[in-house]
Amino acid sequence: MNDVSLNRALTQRYIDTEARLGAKNYKPLDVVLTRGEGVHVWDVDGNRYLDCLSAYSAVNQGHCHPKILAAMVEQAGRLTLTSRAFRNDQLAPFYEEVCALTNSHKVLPMNSGAEAVETALKVARKWGYEIKGVPDGQAEIVVAADNFHGRTVAIVGFSTDPDSRGGFGPFAPGFRTVPFGDAAALEAAIGPNTVAFLVEPIQGEAGVIFPPAGYLRRVRELCTRHNVILILDEIQTGLGRTGRLLAEEHDGIEADLTLIGKALSGGFYPVSAVLSNSEVMGVLHPGEHGSTFGGNPLACAVARAALKVLVEEGMVENAARVGARLQAGLAQVATSRVKEVRGRGLMIAVELHADAGGARRVCEALQGRGLLAKETHAHTIRIAPPLILTDDQADWIVDQFAAALP
Ligand SMILES: *Cc1c(COP(=O)(O)O)cnc(C)c1O
Repeated sequence: MNDVSLNRALTQRYIDTEARLGAKNYKPLDVVLTRGEGVHVWDVDGNRYLDCLSAYSAVNQGHCHPKILAAMVEQAGRLTLTSRAFRNDQLAPFYEEVCALTNSHKVLPMNSGAEAVETALKVARKWGYEIKGVPDGQAEIVVAADNFHGRTVAIVGFSTDPDSRGGFGPFAPGFRTVPFGDAAALEAAIGPNTVAFLVEPIQGEAGVIFPPAGYLRRVRELCTRHNVILILDEIQTGLGRTGRLLAEEHDGIEADLTLIGKALSGGFYPVSAVLSNSEVMGVLHPGEHGSTFGGNPLACAVARAALKVLVEEGMVENAARVGARLQAGLAQVATSRVKEVRGRGLMIAVELHADAGGARRVCEALQGRGLLAKETHAHTIRIAPPLILTDDQADWIVDQFAAALP
């Protein structure tokens, strides 16, 4: 038993100050964290929790991984930012290592995931005009319904979630939406001016939604046949989360542009990147795109360490093995109020029936048992612990769910 005791007074002071001074664009669980190590985090009252969100898969390597921390501290004392006006000695080795690991030909480093998405959209449009021969201003990009690609104005403009886009228009034209998982709809949507299809291999924010088997392979074929750039947003699914380095590997395909972020820094720092084959990225010339912090030496040093530990410490294989154990365990304790347990590797969701009282209540019960998870939409609980999770910890998570499920 792992009962959490909250000194409500201390916790409440932080919550009140946030409410008084902060924009209310989040509704977090009422837990105030102050320390993290591996799969665990501690609140201001000293209670320990197992983190089953991993900052939306940004801390795949576990909290405060000592080797990433050492790389960050060392680099922070040496050189943090040069801007791309000058070169730095961390960028080239980062390029080499990320390309070797992901089998890519070119890299464009940015900071947030949304910036990587924006970068890919710009590259795809320019490729459309300069290489594919689309008439000026006519480029079209196809996206999937229920997507999540970030929060910029261009990106929320092609969201289908009313909360994400409502009140933020007018939006950029040139996007067309098709149902996720429907390759025939994609084919029907592709026209002579279509330059790209942007899609998540598994839709994370939508609630860990899997497309039908064979979908991504079919999408790859369609994009190749119609000369359309396939952009895979692996910001959440990538870097080991699904038990492979990139989720595209499950389908044996390669995207033309692959977006990574989140765990690229192990949670220490915002680092994202667009990976590509050379033809597509070749449309960019000096001055046409950039970022003050993109590719800075601190980011590169942190990302190099984050990738290194992911591989050296076998986290990708561990995600596959422990993820299968955790999914099987959860399926076993699922009550009649559970509609489905689904997942790949350590990207898992427990979906409740609509009349089961809601996912938020389960998350609050889990919090009381020392497990932090976040509901996505009303009825789904996402379970995405750091990839260093042990068998015993997986079994412990199952026990907490068994006690907390309605
Ligand atoms: C988190 C996420 C993003 C956006 O990343 P930010 O760093 O929050 O801008 C984009 N795509 C997917 C699939 C994500 O999960």
